[in-house]
Amino acid sequence: MTMAPVDPSAPYDRDNIFAKILRGELPCTKVYEDEHALAFEDIHPQAPVHVLVVPKGEYVSWDDFSAKASADEIAGYMRAVGKVARELGLVESGYRMIANIGPDSGQLVPHLHVHLCGGTNLGRMIPA
Ligand code: AMP
Repeated sequence: MTMAPVDPSAPYDRDNIFAKILRGELPCTKVYEDEHALAFEDIHPQAPVHVLVVPKGEYVSWDDFSAKASADEIAGYMRAVGKVARELGLVESGYRMIANIGPDSGQLVPHLHVHLCGGTNLGRMIPA
């Protein structure tokens, strides 16, 4: 994927890939959807299970979301992430949640997303 790292000070870009997926303009392999969140398979999986969970609102990052989203949106999104992990059967074996935020993280898509990865032993949290 040739994309520039996310600029955290830039306004929300309605043409980002996940915005297009949320509007149904681009396809995705949907795993879960409710009022607050959509979950779909990552197109370049890094683990046997690799699902992205995105809030439906227009938020670039965790910083943006935690500062501006309503209590309902925050609760709904958090519950959705937990529900998706449960429905994917990851709770017993364990899993990793990754949210890349801003340049040092390598965030490429400027719409908040949590990666849910599992299905194998994931090794060190941050590879050396
Ligand atoms: P990040 O670096 O956290 O912004 O990760 C963005 C993720 O989005 C990467 O893991 C990509 O593989 C994934 N991705 C990009 N385009 C798509 C797409 N059209 N459908 C599903 N996943 C995508």
